[in-house]
Amino acid sequence: MNQRDEELASYNPSTLPFRRLGGWVEESSDLQPELEGSVNADVIVVGAGFAGLSTALELTALGAKVIVLEQEICGFGASGRNAGYLLGSMGIEFEMFSKRVGIEHAKKFIRFYDDAVDYVERRMVELDINCDYNRSGILRAAIAPSQEKWLRRSMEIGHELGSTTRFVDQNEMRARGIPPAFLFASEQRGGTLNPGKYVNGLRCAAIKAGVKLYEKTPLLSYTEGPTITCKTPRGSATAPIMVLATNAFTPQLGLLRDKVAPIRVSAIETQQLSSKQLSSLGWQGREGIITPHFMMESHRLTAHDTMVLTVKKLNYVYGSKTPNVPDDHAYAALVRTLRERHPSLKDLGIKHCWSGYVSVAYDALPVVGPSNAQENIFHVAGCSGHGLATHSFVGKLLAERIVGSESELFKDFHHKTPSTLPEPFQWCALKSAFTAAGFYDNWVDRKARVTNTNSAI
Ligand SMILES: Cc1cc2nc3c(=O)[nH]c(=O)nc-3n(C[C@H](O)[C@H](O)[C@H](O)COP(=O)(O)OP(=O)(O)OC[C@H]3O[C@@H](n4cnc5c(N)ncnc54)[C@H](O)[C@@H]3O)c2cc1C
Repeated sequence: MNQRDEELASYNPSTLPFRRLGGWVEESSDLQPELEGSVNADVIVVGAGFAGLSTALELTALGAKVIVLEQEICGFGASGRNAGYLLGSMGIEFEMFSKRVGIEHAKKFIRFYDDAVDYVERRMVELDINCDYNRSGILRAAIAPSQEKWLRRSMEIGHELGSTTRFVDQNEMRARGIPPAFLFASEQRGGTLNPGKYVNGLRCAAIKAGVKLYEKTPLLSYTEGPTITCKTPRGSATAPIMVLATNAFTPQLGLLRDKVAPIRVSAIETQQLSSKQLSSLGWQGREGIITPHFMMESHRLTAHDTMVLTVKKLNYVYGSKTPNVPDDHAYAALVRTLRERHPSLKDLGIKHCWSGYVSVAYDALPVVGPSNAQENIFHVAGCSGHGLATHSFVGKLLAERIVGSESELFKDFHHKTPSTLPEPFQWCALKSAFTAAGFYDNWVDRKARVTNTNSAI
């Protein structure tokens, strides 16, 4: 065992500070009051993440009176816990989904993913949201030479479907100061932002626009019909239309259990880097980096000079539950990844860690549309870990659909989402898939270690 392995073996993730609200949001000093008594509106939106707040804002701009019910605070879900990558079509598995929906339909999904990036960039300006957006581009960067074939093949299929990426070779990576663990990459436009500031910007804009927001107000149950009644602990809301923007929490409301599974994704944030550590790192452009593992790694610098790493290990809780608890196994894997990819930061401490849930359909495509025959209840789910852009943009498409002008892009969502498995089969299937993916990723990581050792000799 060398010194680094000893350090990692003695490392105890359960001593890391766990943040219940994720890494980016705080309870606001102007927390909006819980719903008490009876209220009504044109549309009730449940859930105040990117999807719910964008839908509420777009509906209000179209003249609707909108109520938002949020069980905790805005950004309590994945919207306040993500890595902040504003990323388009590069994040999706082209091969898998073009086989599933066919080439022509796949092209439309690519357009949706890429248009979503433009939408968020535009909204940040229109709504005057300062969220430390760094339009650096995103690199999907290999850590082992063996990943080149897969990366190039994925780019090729992407290009056929209309996804624009460019290959960044080793020379360019080094010239740009990208940390040397990352060998070459595929690059796409987009960038990184502070998701807490972005979701808070949407929240402020919604309140300013006249959206009636109730925080700490969970939807307990609802009745269907021409008028929908939502029950909350101390009140009720009625409207002819409801939008469930509850993402990974939706199965707990008795909906989409057979369409999406909530998957736990974890993150760590380091202490602030000193100016010496920053200059030892290079990485002047601060590009957001993801890797082509099955369970990817994401590495980014924040505007406050910390580093955030996410994913590496995924998890699923039996029965589609979403407990807000630490995932020590994932944090340990992320700390190990930090030490391996950035050896010059070996003394950098970890500030805190957190986890959140995304909803994933078995075909990894969005699950958006009406939920009932009457078409007055809508759902937004299936973000598959890439919802910063798409779930913001869905708000616009959904608002247009609700007021009666369905766009071509919204029509393109229509496809048959595969059914999920009942328990205990889903638990067994997902745990097995993550274990198999972990084995493969470990094998890639071992190859990267060999490459690094050889190049150091
Ligand atoms: C660690 C991590 C890293 C990620 N990194 C990225 C990234 O870099 N880029 C990217 O594009 N995506 C990323 N994602 C995914 C992205 O965060 C999500 O796709 C996106 O936030 C989904 O937004 P949403 O509004 O649909 O859902 P959420 O943000 O989950 O919002 C749902 C809301 O509904 C509320 N709610 C649930 N049930 C009820 C109820 N009964 N009553 C009232 N309210 C309720 C919740 O409290 C929550 O606020 C990441 C996710 C995680 C967890």
